[in-house]
Amino acid sequence: MQTILEPQTSFSVSDAGFYGRFGGAFIPEMLYPNVEELRQNYLDMIADPGFQAEFWHLLEDFAGRPTPLFLAKRLSAQVGATVYLKREDLCHTGAHKINNTIGQILVAQRLGKKRIVAETGAGQHGVATATVCALMGLECIVYMGSVDIERQQPNVDRMRMLGAEVRPATSGSQTLKDATNEAMRHWINNPVDTHYIIGSVVGPHPYPDMVARFQSVISEEIRKQLLVKTGRENPDYVVACVGGGSNAAGAFYHYLHEPSVRLVAVEAAGLGVTSGHSAATTALGKPGVLHGSRTILMQTEDGQVTEPYSISAGLDYPGIGPLHAHLFESGRGDFYAITDDDAIEAGFNLSKLEGIIPAIETAHALAALPLMNLQPDDVVVVCLSGRGDKDLSTYSKYL
Ligand SMILES: *Cc1c(COP(=O)(O)O)cnc(C)c1O
Repeated sequence: MQTILEPQTSFSVSDAGFYGRFGGAFIPEMLYPNVEELRQNYLDMIADPGFQAEFWHLLEDFAGRPTPLFLAKRLSAQVGATVYLKREDLCHTGAHKINNTIGQILVAQRLGKKRIVAETGAGQHGVATATVCALMGLECIVYMGSVDIERQQPNVDRMRMLGAEVRPATSGSQTLKDATNEAMRHWINNPVDTHYIIGSVVGPHPYPDMVARFQSVISEEIRKQLLVKTGRENPDYVVACVGGGSNAAGAFYHYLHEPSVRLVAVEAAGLGVTSGHSAATTALGKPGVLHGSRTILMQTEDGQVTEPYSISAGLDYPGIGPLHAHLFESGRGDFYAITDDDAIEAGFNLSKLEGIIPAIETAHALAALPLMNLQPDDVVVVCLSGRGDKDLSTYSKYL
């Protein structure tokens, strides 16, 4: 898929699963057979014409693709550049996550799996997973921290209505990191008939690459749509928020090797980068291993994972995917950290200016625009990763 490049300038995954010095598969021996089965099969499976036909059919007729590329005129006037919004918020289930779960359910079917296990924080990935399991008639078990089950009741109900079993993760801080541990444990104990659908570009190789490929439909569409609208395929900037980094990986994918396109990744600063309540991984983190890959993560002096904080559940993760760690370290990407308050303000701003209520995750990406020193000729594409319906109770505290 990618042309030949010097290893140090490549942003594609290597055969061994690395992006620069990040990535790999640091997994317990018990998990090896499952991950290896996936690694040996995923590329051939995805390349198969039958797979491609079914993937695109479901993206179009079930998920609602292609999503529009919208010229945000009033926002453009405000920031002093031409801003397009890639409308992933219009996808079925309200965010980009469905692109990945559709791809992975097709992989699971072809591997002959009967059961799906997934982890979820806010419940968005759990809902997207339960949705494709209902569609395909596969059993679905979603692990969710008990604390998150309390805070995200509507998504718990959605998953149950879709036929999924939601199992509480009661260890540790009872949030996403613990749900991930439980889901991995479940997979170890059920290696033959279960597939684990990871929700972002994280986890052991081949997950980050597989998820990025499924999400790459975002930048594939941006190129075509931008060409029609502006006569050029390449914007000056692509901007996306980063939790684990899947919507960003999808929006960046076809621009990774286009040096004229600046890739802008926006993390959550929570109450402030140095406040002790933050999820600004690249600002605060150091290299280490999290959930099976070497990446940058927030950790204590002796290497214990630090509890992250963000107002947006989707960005409340102590690490980032290995691709993004490499984009950061190599300088290929520009990284910003946006506080809760600035994100909320950007969410209100877009709602009033363009009639689009964004997810609070997405609002972080929008809040970076005024910081980017944009020029009048610049063309900017913002990945509008999701819609804000799920966040109304949070937004309403600021009304
Ligand atoms: C889950 C989620 C995110 C964060 O996940 P990434 O893998 O970083 O994309 C961002 N935006 C929305 C709307 C989400 O639901």
